[in-house]
Amino acid sequence: MSGALITDILPWQQQAWQQMLAQLSSGQLPHALLLSAGADTGKRHFALMLAQRILCRSPKQDIPCGDCVACKLSAAGNNPDLLLITPEEKSKFIKVDQIRELKKYIETSSHALGKRIIVLDAAENLNANGANALLKSLEEPPADVLFLLLSDRPRSVLATIASRCVALKLPMPDKVQALSWLKKQVPQDAGGTLEYALDYSQGRPMAALRILGSEQSEEQTEIGMALLKTLQQEELATRTAGRYYKTHGVELLETLAYWLNSLAKFQLTGNRLMLKGETLQQAANLLDSGHRDRQDLARRMLQLYQQVSLAQMQLSGAGNPNVQLLLEDLLLQLQSLAASGRR
Ligand SMILES: [Zn+2]
Repeated sequence: MSGALITDILPWQQQAWQQMLAQLSSGQLPHALLLSAGADTGKRHFALMLAQRILCRSPKQDIPCGDCVACKLSAAGNNPDLLLITPEEKSKFIKVDQIRELKKYIETSSHALGKRIIVLDAAENLNANGANALLKSLEEPPADVLFLLLSDRPRSVLATIASRCVALKLPMPDKVQALSWLKKQVPQDAGGTLEYALDYSQGRPMAALRILGSEQSEEQTEIGMALLKTLQQEELATRTAGRYYKTHGVELLETLAYWLNSLAKFQLTGNRLMLKGETLQQAANLLDSGHRDRQDLARRMLQLYQQVSLAQMQLSGAGNPNVQLLLEDLLLQLQSLAASGRR
């Protein structure tokens, strides 16, 4: 299920959202909607927020309140009056079991004696079985059920199904809207990175967000800063190793492995998307400025990466390695990557 309460109206969906609210308040919301929009532009976000808003007992202005019983259930991802059916990972298709679940769901009654909402993602990927089951419910819809069907390709949705839904096409965001939204999601990333990710995703903000990755933990950020200082020779390798080896040896190695992997990929492809976060980008700039031979630098990074992997294995193994010495050695080698270019 969807385990989060959604309370931010996507800027490019503002108008569609107001339209839905107007229909809702005048009791004119149809029993089945086919919401279409380009992939990764926030259809599911819209549908789930609408569902949560409808189920909310005391909506705040235009959005779900977050405090009532229904909102709390929605936030925990187990509001029994909201069923989300989405293709299981790696399969594009809605499975027969999922349709059975849907049928059963329709037959039982509402938890809160109010609306029940079924959000069905990728409606174009229903197989014949699923379509038949759904069709029955759409032909004789239970009074309390609202269907929200989602599709990237509404023309591929079976005509018998589409004809029983009211269609609503959600717009693509323009670049300014998408960028300002992204900025709010990943404030630690600089504007240039966001723009690059957005271009790379053909203007689809949800895809760009996936590329940018989830936020780093405070710990990772701190270790990243320490690595950068070491690389810049502002901090001795021995001191960095000394600071982390007792409590955060594993994390340091993880971060170092991630860095080397990303930096090598960047050297080989020139693709800045490989560099997530400010510190990693600064590290790349530093290494980049000293070296003419990108291939050679990448090769040396990957060699060091292998040594880090080996050290990780040693740390998790049965032996009793000298972690401090291990870290020192690896950090010295990291420094030499930067130093060798300046010679
Ligand atoms: Zn509420």
